Amino acid sequence: MQSLFIDRRRLLQAGALAGTGLLLPGCTTLVARPTARGLASRPTTRAGCLPPVNVAPERVIRTLAGLRPYRAPGFRVEAEAFGDKKVVHNYGHGGAGITLSWGTSRLATLLGLQGHQGPVAVLGAGVMGLSTARLVQEAGFPVTIYAKALPPETTSNIAGGQFHPFGHYDGERVTDAWRAQLSAALDYSWRRFQIMVGDDYGIRWLPTYAERDTPERQLLPTFPPNSRLLRPDEHPFPVQSLARYDTMYVEVGRYLRQLIRDVELAGGRIAIRELATPAEVAALPERLVFNCTGLGARALFGDEELRPARGQLAILLPQPEIQYAFTGNAGYMFPRADGILLGGTFELDQWDATPQPETIAGIIASHQRLFAGFRCT
Ligand SMILES: Cc1cc2nc3c(=O)[nH]c(=O)nc-3n(C[C@H](O)[C@H](O)[C@H](O)COP(=O)(O)OP(=O)(O)OC[C@H]3O[C@@H](n4cnc5c(N)ncnc54)[C@H](O)[C@@H]3O)c2cc1C
Repeated sequence: MQSLFIDRRRLLQAGALAGTGLLLPGCTTLVARPTARGLASRPTTRAGCLPPVNVAPERVIRTLAGLRPYRAPGFRVEAEAFGDKKVVHNYGHGGAGITLSWGTSRLATLLGLQGHQGPVAVLGAGVMGLSTARLVQEAGFPVTIYAKALPPETTSNIAGGQFHPFGHYDGERVTDAWRAQLSAALDYSWRRFQIMVGDDYGIRWLPTYAERDTPERQLLPTFPPNSRLLRPDEHPFPVQSLARYDTMYVEVGRYLRQLIRDVELAGGRIAIRELATPAEVAALPERLVFNCTGLGARALFGDEELRPARGQLAILLPQPEIQYAFTGNAGYMFPRADGILLGGTFELDQWDATPQPETIAGIIASHQRLFAGFRCT
């Protein structure tokens, strides 16, 4: 049987999307589910116990679908001359846009602000536009954000909010120069999110259990911390092998709301406006423009490398006692104050951003099986 679900860790380990056999164009991701046979009867010591998530269709409080801005050659952070203006692109982050937001926005502002004088325009008010606008303000420039839609009506609001760079490039298409950008971006983001942990921004640390047979690959000297393989008596999950590590989780609704407040408190202006053509961008009064339009950059700047990768989520009633996250063949489970997120699809070239009832039912069923198989309850 084939599954729609992805393992965020497994795709990352592969270092690529295409070429792994995990993605099919115009179709869903295919990953075989593991069998839990042979593990269910082995009791777990109390030390390895965790409270299970209570998964049932009647506990679903909302369903969501969003389109990740996937680009096989990786995110685009690049400056382009545009008549008398400079446009700096900062888009195409796939399933890693929250994670990379501070980092690629910093690279973009370093490219754009050097030698610049005067006001600055930012196109887009998702996580990338808001982070870029804050960095522009921190560097001392006045900023206006032009956006077709504001949070909560952005893709960034759909994100699960895990800090981990997942599903955002094809390893066979990226250059060494791009990999250097990725390392620099990840490093800056990792440090920036750490100093924002707390209720104001809705960011917290959680242990994450990842179905896999090796610890996480160290992407930075300090990320991910505390990564190791677990023995079966150290966890209750009915899976063949499991690793754990620690990372941060962002409650994106609260986070984006706070970023908007930060932009406004620092004197930023926000204009609801769709830029339909490059000529409209050229007519803006600002001479420096950051393009943070996510998937919108495909139509606005004609970037056909940009493709949607749909992700669907079922949100369950909150369960405050769940203080861990899971990623694996069943999909992923991220606990947040606004509900327990169950997700895990990565459907390339699907443009319809509405939840599909059959897929949602599959997400619920796979997690129901996972938590029903807990070996200590
Ligand atoms: C189901 C799902 C789960 C995810 N989970 C995670 C996760 O756990 N961790 C993680 O790091 N990432 C995750 N992501 C990925 C993340 O959500 C995206 O990479 C990120 O939101 C992209 O941000 P953005 O600001 O570039 O785009 P968006 O949030 O789409 O913002 C684009 C902005 O540009 C505006 N715009 C577009 N076109 C125009 C135009 N022509 N004129 C004016 N304005 C325009 C839009 O209105 C919007 O304001 C997930 C995504 C999905 C769908």
